[in-house]
Amino acid sequence: MNETFLARLEQVEQRIAAACKKAGRPRDSVRLLAVSKTKPPEAVREAADCGLRLFGENRVQEAQSKIPMCPNGLEWHLIGHLQTNKAKIAAQYFQMVHSVDSLKLLQALESHAGTTLPVLLQVNVSGESAKFGMKPDEVACVIEAANQMQKVEVHGLMTMPPFSPDPEKTRVHFSALRQLRDHLQDETGTPLPELSMGMSHDLEVAIQEGSTWVRIGTDLFGGRS
Ligand SMILES: *Cc1c(COP(=O)(O)O)cnc(C)c1O
Repeated sequence: MNETFLARLEQVEQRIAAACKKAGRPRDSVRLLAVSKTKPPEAVREAADCGLRLFGENRVQEAQSKIPMCPNGLEWHLIGHLQTNKAKIAAQYFQMVHSVDSLKLLQALESHAGTTLPVLLQVNVSGESAKFGMKPDEVACVIEAANQMQKVEVHGLMTMPPFSPDPEKTRVHFSALRQLRDHLQDETGTPLPELSMGMSHDLEVAIQEGSTWVRIGTDLFGGRS
């Protein structure tokens, strides 16, 4: 079991390293977020035993019961849609939120965070079928509002494009997120170094387009039922 995870991790690591090399980027410019949603604490322990420290969950309720059963010293990132009324619990369990998709949610996190909380703003750059995310033209206003807050800090943007079996079809959305980031940095004067984009099947394309966080579930932990 442990060997299986280690073998999968080594494969993912090789893919990330190769993509960085191809893009002329240093390996340490991309971080691997291990997406443990639906997987038991034992799977997280196994991953931690292999040296992983950064884990992603997409539901607050699941995280609330799972995290206390996992090893200490791990960093937990929320990557799924968060309802405003769960912001308080989220702020207790997560060290970073990738999926802030409204000003209202940002304000709720600000009022419940005990200390500095880095966040990413989730943007719907594909327009069509994406269920969550702000519209690109709403983001500047949210960044300006965040700049007046004490605890939440916007570090960049996140996107979750509609699934396509062909990763090349997703490139346009990743590139749109990077261009939006560049534009927002100029417009607001706020540094936005982080881009959370890329999953198991399209991490190479995401890294070529500037991703700094790849969120990998299936190719590390196996398929989800
Ligand atoms: C599930 C999930 C992932 C991981 O997807 P895989 O295809 O299993 O790697 C990444 N990001 C978000 C937001 C997710 O919900």
